[in-house]
Amino acid sequence: MHELAVTESVIAAISTQLPDSRVVVVHLEIGRLSGVMPDAVRFCFELAGEGTCVEGARLDITEPEGVGDCAACGASFPARDPLALCPCGSADVTISGGADLLIKAVEVADDV
Ligand SMILES: [Zn+2]
Repeated sequence: MHELAVTESVIAAISTQLPDSRVVVVHLEIGRLSGVMPDAVRFCFELAGEGTCVEGARLDITEPEGVGDCAACGASFPARDPLALCPCGSADVTISGGADLLIKAVEVADDV
């Protein structure tokens, strides 16, 4: 399952940077074009987080829309899939947003 691997690498990244902290909130950004299902990440986060510094942490996910930049007419437009066509009809489109999965912020408890 793709999302389990993604979630495990997110948890590994947080554990590496904050080895001695108790994490209370993890803010993730999962672009709509990233191919990652937020609900599956939520499910995996609880399972994979057991016994790690993120156990019991709340997961906050924002899902930015995809953005396509057209090389033909210069427009930026909302892209619903990675092979989006520009409204002008051109397929010479670069996706510039909504394709990433980012750890936006991590909040830790200050009682440790
Ligand atoms: Zn265009």
